[in-house]
Amino acid sequence: MPVYFDIHTHSHKARQNVVQVRNLFPNQLDLIEQNPDVWYSVGWHPWHIDANDSDEMFAFLEKAIQNKKVIALGETGLDRSIDESFGRQTNIFIRHLSLAHNAGLPVIVHAVKAYPDIIHIYKKTKARIPLIIHGFRGNHQSAAQLLDHGFYLSFGATLLENNTTLAEVFQNTPEEKIFLETDDSAADIRQLYERAAALRNVRTEQWMETIAHNFDKCFGK
Ligand SMILES: [Zn+2]
Repeated sequence: MPVYFDIHTHSHKARQNVVQVRNLFPNQLDLIEQNPDVWYSVGWHPWHIDANDSDEMFAFLEKAIQNKKVIALGETGLDRSIDESFGRQTNIFIRHLSLAHNAGLPVIVHAVKAYPDIIHIYKKTKARIPLIIHGFRGNHQSAAQLLDHGFYLSFGATLLENNTTLAEVFQNTPEEKIFLETDDSAADIRQLYERAAALRNVRTEQWMETIAHNFDKCFGK
């Protein structure tokens, strides 16, 4: 039976017929459940890095990626809209990329006003792992640059809004590079699939197969 994939959520509530990738902070490993439809990404969000000791957090993170339920690092990334030092954010992002590269895991990336920085660091570190830009809401040019580097774009609840540019970007993104997510919104992933299928002019079932295929390819599940 086809299922829905919600590749980035902060919810801890299982939903029938939905495979979730739940987001955890590195010190939340005790929340990992053995539900076959629930997977995890673990990472250090740039909004929270000031409150924690890096070495301790990376020790948690190294432990986390040993767990078979953890299939991605993140969310982590770069955010130019916050006060946290950009240099510190960059160092921490690079450490995530290096860990992910060694473990062969994709990274779920939080990027605010920082798409060029993400690309620059990705190239510089020579990380050979898939990057998923979560909550993508950029323009055609940003999408093209990220796609040029092989990144996936994950679209969230913003896709449900009346935003013509984002709808067009979505329509022009190669289907093999797309994910859908609810993140911290109240949206239902099914709504997002319906909206996506309508924008791509395909049946929802067909869209479910497309995303299932992308999930298998990116996460190796
Ligand atoms: Zn998130």
